[in-house]
Amino acid sequence: MILTPQQSRNRHTYAVGKGIISPGKVCTMCGIKQSQIVRGAMIEHHEDYQKPLETITLCCSCHQKLHIHRSRVSRILSRG
Ligand SMILES: [Zn+2]
Ligand SMILES: [Zn+2]
Repeated sequence: MILTPQQSRNRHTYAVGKGIISPGKVCTMCGIKQSQIVRGAMIEHHEDYQKPLETITLCCSCHQKLHIHRSRVSRILSRG
């Protein structure tokens, strides 16, 4: 069975709620702490949606950057 991004996120949220895993408190990319973030919250980014419990903790801006970069890369790749 292949997990959709939504299902993967649901499993992650469930595991956090059950205390199986604990969400990160520091951004992996820039090192900002949750307490230092003014706007938004920490985001658990899924590198692989088939591994719902394996996430990378990022702040909002780093998460955005990562996805913008990703979409650019895939656009270049699809162009050949
Ligand atoms: Zn960051
Ligand atoms: Zn993400």
